[in-house]
Amino acid sequence: QTFEALPLAAPLQRALRELEYSVPSPIQAQAIPLLLEGRDLLGCAQTGTGKTAGFALPILNALNERPRPLKAKTARTLVLTPTRELAVQVAKSFNTYGKHVRFRQTLIYGGVGQNPQVAAMRTGVDVLVATPGRLLDLIDQRFLDLSGVEFFVLDEVDRMLDMGFLRDVKRIVAMLPQQRQSLFFSATLAPSIVELAESILRNPAKVTI
Ligand code: AMP
Repeated sequence: QTFEALPLAAPLQRALRELEYSVPSPIQAQAIPLLLEGRDLLGCAQTGTGKTAGFALPILNALNERPRPLKAKTARTLVLTPTRELAVQVAKSFNTYGKHVRFRQTLIYGGVGQNPQVAAMRTGVDVLVATPGRLLDLIDQRFLDLSGVEFFVLDEVDRMLDMGFLRDVKRIVAMLPQQRQSLFFSATLAPSIVELAESILRNPAKVTI
């Protein structure tokens, strides 16, 4: 299988050609068609498997096909990651794969001043990559809300739980619109993780590599 065989829009095909990606990795080959159909996804995969492109490409495809005016203080896509480092990596991937797509993205994480993050959210964004604690801080201060989320990605859930973010994740999920596409990635699927996934996902497709 090649990327060209996948129904991804021209701006994404162009970025993939420029990156000289030709063959989708196993998780990409499985996940991308399901995600383009709008399915929820439970993915069991480590980093290094290409899972970031696996979720970024279908989301960028949807943003490209259904552009919308930004709504103040909202995000169409929310990607939650356990750490600032991972958030930065994921945001970079969206910029790389979405090089030829018109979309606005920002990052939110703790350990730095909140003012630039607040300013960046004022106009709203297509993609917000965030760590849970600071995201909730800004929501509690009314600098952003989750009413506009269409795509929700929980990345590296096992690490997120190891770091004690379960309560934060549950609070965030409770604020999301019912109508959304949700993606859940974890390197391990312990019972507590499956239980959390079941409370978030609706009839998910399951992909393991
Ligand atoms: P990830 O697991 O998403 O962090 O991706 C691991 C690395 O593989 C990243 O450096 C990507 O740029 C690269 N990569 C992802 N998908 C492909 C692909 N289909 N072909 C070649 N490289 C890829």
